[in-house]
Amino acid sequence: MSQVSDRSQLIEGRDLLVVKVGSSLLIDDDGRLRTGWMERLAQRLLNRSGPAVIVSSGAIALGRKAIGLEERPRLLAQAQAAAAVGQIHLARAWSEAFARHGGIAAQVLLSLGDLEARRRYLNARATLETLIEHGIVPVVNENDTVATEEIRFGDNDRLAARVAQLLGAHGLLLLSDVDGLYNADPVRNPDAHRISVVDTITADIEALAGQPRFDGVGTGGMISKLKAARIATEAGTTVMLGSGLGEDPLGELIHGATATIFKARSNPVAARKQWLKSLQHPAGELDIDSGAMKALASGSSLLAVGVRAVRGQFQRGDLVRLVGPNGPCGQGLCGYPAEQARQITGLNSQQIAEVLGEAGRGPVVHRDDLVLFE
Ligand code: GLU
Repeated sequence: MSQVSDRSQLIEGRDLLVVKVGSSLLIDDDGRLRTGWMERLAQRLLNRSGPAVIVSSGAIALGRKAIGLEERPRLLAQAQAAAAVGQIHLARAWSEAFARHGGIAAQVLLSLGDLEARRRYLNARATLETLIEHGIVPVVNENDTVATEEIRFGDNDRLAARVAQLLGAHGLLLLSDVDGLYNADPVRNPDAHRISVVDTITADIEALAGQPRFDGVGTGGMISKLKAARIATEAGTTVMLGSGLGEDPLGELIHGATATIFKARSNPVAARKQWLKSLQHPAGELDIDSGAMKALASGSSLLAVGVRAVRGQFQRGDLVRLVGPNGPCGQGLCGYPAEQARQITGLNSQQIAEVLGEAGRGPVVHRDDLVLFE
């Protein structure tokens, strides 16, 4: 496939695309939001065949004037206070940008723990997937006001990569003020050329990011972009690094504007199955009947009705081993804590609602969280 059709598939195609927007693109020299730019991006995303998620920076930059700062705040508490002011404006601006083209945006603020702890991870994913199913565009930022230094993503490149991984996105577009990765500093070295495709992020490639010019760009710089690209490509996501400085960056990229593509190392489903397979030390076991085994083999989730018995103590999101009539047959992340899983064993969804006093959280093990042994 040619590079241009690859690109247009990533930008306009049917698969989920995560677009990360850096602060410097959103805010002009006077500290005002570039609302026209945001609208054009919203329109492009609404016009693509598949769903999109935005990861938007800008809260701190937008809010800093209100707390009397000209520069980016140095103290964490100042940055957090600035973000508290700026995030309101940012969310409203995105909401209006989408509304202008008949779309709906939703604000999702995440902290590191929401994506690292499995229980919270399942919650974050379920919320994002529900928004996407309803045709709503989630606009994600870090929950800057509460995160402490130790538990911060720190930069939205990494947050965007983790969101792409969480959702099994096929594409991640990192829009910033650079138009790709160069083999040398293009300002100082007239022979520097842009690398248009990176097959694998090797140590040599990583070394390119260490150059001073790249370090100073935006808040994350090239180092954090390469780290993000590594997380995402290993999770099966193709990453595109391009400039968002123009008035219609997606349109420009579709028509061949310069950029660097980092190729995915596999596809998101295969990468996730491999990860699930690699997990060890299940905290419990679920005995499942032959009907459930058949359903799993055809790609369905494990429902409570197919579970015969539950052993062990575990939390929602913990690893459990699945045991069929002929022995262990797979493993996955359980959607319920052990106690609830025991209560709903063998029940259908109506009975689950009666027993738990609330609608259940869906399958006992979701198909995306499950791998069968060969
Ligand atoms: N979450 C920060 C903000 O909204 C941005 C972090 C970054 O620059 O990557 O201001």
